[in-house]
Amino acid sequence: MDFNIALLKGDGIGPEIVDSAVAVLDKAGAKYGHAFHYTAYLMGGCAYDATGNPLPEETVKGCLASDSVLLGAVGGPKWDTLPGHLRPEKALLGIRSALGLFTNIRPAKLYKALKAECPLRPDLVENGFDLMMIRELTGGIYFGERGRREGKYGPEAYDTECYSEMEVERIARVAFNSARKRRKKVISIDKANVLESSRLWREVIHRVAQEYPDVECSDMLVDNAAMQLVKNPAQFDVVVTSNMFGDILSDESSQITGSIGMLPSASLGEGSRGMYEPIHGSAPDIAGQNKANPIATILSAAMMCRFSLEIPEVADDIEKAVDEVLNAGWRTADIVGSTGVTPISCTEMTEKILAAL
Ligand code: NAD
Repeated sequence: MDFNIALLKGDGIGPEIVDSAVAVLDKAGAKYGHAFHYTAYLMGGCAYDATGNPLPEETVKGCLASDSVLLGAVGGPKWDTLPGHLRPEKALLGIRSALGLFTNIRPAKLYKALKAECPLRPDLVENGFDLMMIRELTGGIYFGERGRREGKYGPEAYDTECYSEMEVERIARVAFNSARKRRKKVISIDKANVLESSRLWREVIHRVAQEYPDVECSDMLVDNAAMQLVKNPAQFDVVVTSNMFGDILSDESSQITGSIGMLPSASLGEGSRGMYEPIHGSAPDIAGQNKANPIATILSAAMMCRFSLEIPEVADDIEKAVDEVLNAGWRTADIVGSTGVTPISCTEMTEKILAAL
């Protein structure tokens, strides 16, 4: 099959890591007769420098016309003093909304070979963990009514958490469908003991759960979830939660893997098109030095093959190749940890993964 992929390389280490992922995609796809056709578009600081707009219209159009989007990262100190609407990060919100991406999926997996990087006590992660955090991305308190007003104690500010049944229902389906492809267990996280919006969230989750009798479904309060993630992360398979809770818990779940340069993510909407990107930023401190770990972006490309392009055999091969290279002891500087091995560069890591393919 042929696929049209929009590339948003972005700023900082973005171009280095996207180039690595492209090389890996091409080799893994070719094994099964698939070809990827790439078009690069500007987004972020580089787009502001070239056009005065961090998200040019042409970029939005190009992404909308593609089968899927692969993004590096945007931002950097050079653009930090720009007014809010011109900041590179604003382009991220703009492209998510233009593509209707209401789901963010972040797997957090502790690789056997990287156990020593996990900040949790070794006995807590004896058997590793492999969870998938599914966060609602376009609703809730980040998009609710907000403002300032004169209150009982003087000036005050407020933000509103509001969820419609439709918004909960569609994210619930993403969670249950994902669980079917994994260990068939969904834990929905809310604060139903206090919030009315969480009570509606819980009702809808359980209504949708009835359509998935093969998937186990349970609830957990968000405060307990924050504790359970560091106490027994292996109990989680698919986690589904609201925008704000997901924002906080997905950072916690990434952190317990101990390696920001390893973690991919996907943002999905109604159709098959998605946007795939590493969870880390543009790492300006190491940009242009060939030191970046390309694995998060390579694994994001694998997620794209699985979730959007529906060529899971290519995703499996890429993930296996990454596992193999890590098990063989190869490390970029960010995952050397206490191993004492000499780190390899971004391009060397890419070559190792290509060789493993
Ligand atoms: P960051 O994730 O870019 O970097 C944090 C630390 O992790 C740095 O020391 C960096 O060198 C290291 N790191 C990150 N990715 C790495 C990789 N692949 N390999 C090796 N080391 C890696 O976070 P930050 O420094 O807070 O942000 C830098 C810029 O990125 C800011 O402008 C921020 O707004 C932006 N940002 C963009 C995105 C995005 O594009 N989705 C996400 C987060 C931050």
